[in-house]
Amino acid sequence: MTGREALPGTLLEARSLHKSYGQVHAVRGVDFVLARDSYVTLLGPSGCGKTTILRLIGGFETPSSGHLNLDGTSLDGVPASRRPVNTVFQSYALFPHLDVEANVGFGLSVAGVSRDEASGRVAEALRMVRLENMARRATQQLSGGQQQRVALARAIVNRPRLLLLDEPLSALDRKMRKDMQIELRELQRRLGLTFLHVTHDQEEAFALSDRVIVMNHGRIEQNDEPQTIYRKPETAYVADFIGGSNILPAAVVSRAADRATVASAFGTFESPAAPSVKVGAPASLCLRPELIALSDASPSLPAKVAHVVFQGADWLVQVAAGKQILFVRLAGAESPPEPGNDVSIRFNPDQAWVAAGSLAGGP
Ligand code: ATP
Repeated sequence: MTGREALPGTLLEARSLHKSYGQVHAVRGVDFVLARDSYVTLLGPSGCGKTTILRLIGGFETPSSGHLNLDGTSLDGVPASRRPVNTVFQSYALFPHLDVEANVGFGLSVAGVSRDEASGRVAEALRMVRLENMARRATQQLSGGQQQRVALARAIVNRPRLLLLDEPLSALDRKMRKDMQIELRELQRRLGLTFLHVTHDQEEAFALSDRVIVMNHGRIEQNDEPQTIYRKPETAYVADFIGGSNILPAAVVSRAADRATVASAFGTFESPAAPSVKVGAPASLCLRPELIALSDASPSLPAKVAHVVFQGADWLVQVAAGKQILFVRLAGAESPPEPGNDVSIRFNPDQAWVAAGSLAGGP
């Protein structure tokens, strides 16, 4: 990629983006592209720089260095009001004294759009979010989910090219959040718009996205499709943040195409490995609890059962193998071992995964 030429199908490019606030490096050299008409999530814990990236794209902050291009045109120096980008905030930020219709049309009247045109566009936006029957309602008379849909209608009414969503569902209860996830994804498809959504909830990121960008301390840790992030986490940090895996320290003995031979508490064997796993650098063995069996067929590792938790569809068994604590998932129909029992744990190395870095030291 050279100069300002956009990659085909690319809406937004971030190149070597940095943002510091005094001594705080909120964003530390970030590169990514957003494909046109895609749903992309920025995922990471509090303080990793997600909101700062949205604010840089929205034009509410200026990068300390690096560039943003939209449709191949630089956003350097372009004020927020001139960017074809809108933001939906967690707090909705609706005007309490205006009804639904007036909230959605507010920006159009400020921009001097004629009343006729504005009323057509407001009606279309309300149809898009399925609130066409509530145009005259006061916003205080709406549920949290309905208020969020008013905020969405207001953000899409002037047809931005990119919609930024900053934790838009975090004020909703769990059931409403699940429903709104489906609505958001359908809305993005119906509109054919690009959505960039910030969340710290990995389930939400997986449910919504074509791509997930996992952030760690102002840097991108992995940028991939949800299934790849889940099955092939690049680093121990990503595996840990996504959750659900046992993560054990491992030493890389040798490395071949897409596999590595590692030494761990289970002995030495070869497993599929992330591209950045290297001999001599820290690495971790990731084992999903459902892929571990309690069996003494060799090779296996002796362990002692610590806890057994009934989870309806299955049992979650916590075992201690030496100093290593592991979770094993057994089908609910199996009879589980008792706490204190000696067991042997076993897995197929082809189903394990080697990620770069360790949880203690970081990658
Ligand atoms: P959260 O999920 O809590 O919103 P985040 O991942 O969105 O977190 P940011 O809000 O982007 O994180 O903040 C990244 C870092 O930059 C944090 O350490 C934060 O304290 C710092 N930061 C953000 N805005 C400012 C500011 N205006 N002045 C000083 N520091 C800031």
